[in-house]
Amino acid sequence: MTNTLRTRVAIVGAGPAGLLLSHLLAASGIESVVIDSRTRDEIESTIRAGILEHGTVRVLDESGASDRVLTSGHRHDGIELRFEGEGHRIDFPSLTGRSVWLYPQHEVLKDLIAARLAGGQDLRFGVTAERIEDAETARPRVVASDADGTSLEIEADFVVGADGSRSIARAAVTGSSTGGYFREYPFAWFGILCEAPPSSEELIYSNSPNGFALISQRSATVQRMYFQCDPGADPHAPSEAELWDALQSRVPGTTLKEGRIFQRDVLRFRSFVAHELRRGRVALIGDAAHTVPPTGAKGMNLAIADVLLLEKALRALLEDGDERAIDAFPEKALRRIWKAQHFSWWMTSMLHVAPDASDFDRRRQVGELRSVVESEAGRTYLAEAYTGWPFED
Ligand SMILES: Cc1cc2nc3c(=O)[nH]c(=O)nc-3n(C[C@H](O)[C@H](O)[C@H](O)COP(=O)(O)OP(=O)(O)OC[C@H]3O[C@@H](n4cnc5c(N)ncnc54)[C@H](O)[C@@H]3O)c2cc1C
Repeated sequence: MTNTLRTRVAIVGAGPAGLLLSHLLAASGIESVVIDSRTRDEIESTIRAGILEHGTVRVLDESGASDRVLTSGHRHDGIELRFEGEGHRIDFPSLTGRSVWLYPQHEVLKDLIAARLAGGQDLRFGVTAERIEDAETARPRVVASDADGTSLEIEADFVVGADGSRSIARAAVTGSSTGGYFREYPFAWFGILCEAPPSSEELIYSNSPNGFALISQRSATVQRMYFQCDPGADPHAPSEAELWDALQSRVPGTTLKEGRIFQRDVLRFRSFVAHELRRGRVALIGDAAHTVPPTGAKGMNLAIADVLLLEKALRALLEDGDERAIDAFPEKALRRIWKAQHFSWWMTSMLHVAPDASDFDRRRQVGELRSVVESEAGRTYLAEAYTGWPFED
């Protein structure tokens, strides 16, 4: 049996991209249906991003998507770059007039899901999209099935693939699920969550001869930390003592506050941009369109920037039949996407130690870090990119 639904915009993926798009469309009176293969509980408990750009916070707050971001999130006015045993603070407000907020992605998702459901929106968990058909017609369709195997077809005026880095929607736009520009890295992040007080007030990005570490915070009692590891590392192999040694040896000059480690994972990362972002009446946004290594904290923020451009374009298309903004969407989105790709690659390559790094490479890397922290122009570039370039409007 196949159930058929009709809506204006069908959105595959209830991550930050899909949910915010649906929220903004509803505010303009445009109906949408959002489906996600995971359960609400899984979505609301997966730990991912933590740093929200200045503009992202403004959008979440002003659109009514999250009234908790400013009350429960923590404003951070800087980060520390640490190398050769010394910390160097990058002060965001004095360099750019902006700050970032530490507010976990799963809290953003809880806020967005609550807002969608309170608004009576059609949001379906446990529904998996299999493919998108008829992209180049006026009635594209999502072919999906629910957890019981019942088929569902969603016919829409426009379909949006917001289904993350393993997107199935990509095939309908680029012709293949892997069609894009791609770069892999010879290292990964070992991430832990631990019960401990914060080791520092702001994030520490540390370059050391043993590799990179990121010391970040979650709350007064829970901390998130990462260190550079081999992509094939087994997250369950090291003992807690070995994990603390690995972290401590990568932040020389700082004493970490240790505590029980209750979650551990290995995060492989890559850079990716899809060859196309739109075909006919199907578009890709967020991680489905591009993936960045997490070092620059850009992934979710870039997804939000895509949403703002696409929402405006869909309003013009669906309310006035004006195709100019949707035609311009890929080119406009790609300008920011490639800037964020560069920044994420740059932070990654400047801070991590490549497995085949020579003595020359190591010394050059310290020279690069010094050129950033000792020059106002260097610090300003980093602060502008980290806090987020202004959104178009
Ligand atoms: C450890 C880590 C740290 C990070 N730190 C930061 C940070 O500090 N700042 C930042 O901006 N970004 C960060 N990121 C990146 C950020 O988490 C992602 O860029 C963001 O989640 C992208 O949002 P999205 O909505 O595009 O995709 P996703 O969040 O991946 O959502 C996609 C959704 O689609 C669903 N889905 C997939 N396939 C299907 C299908 N076939 N049918 C139905 N549903 C489907 C999935 O279940 C998922 O819920 C980090 C990522 C990681 C892993």
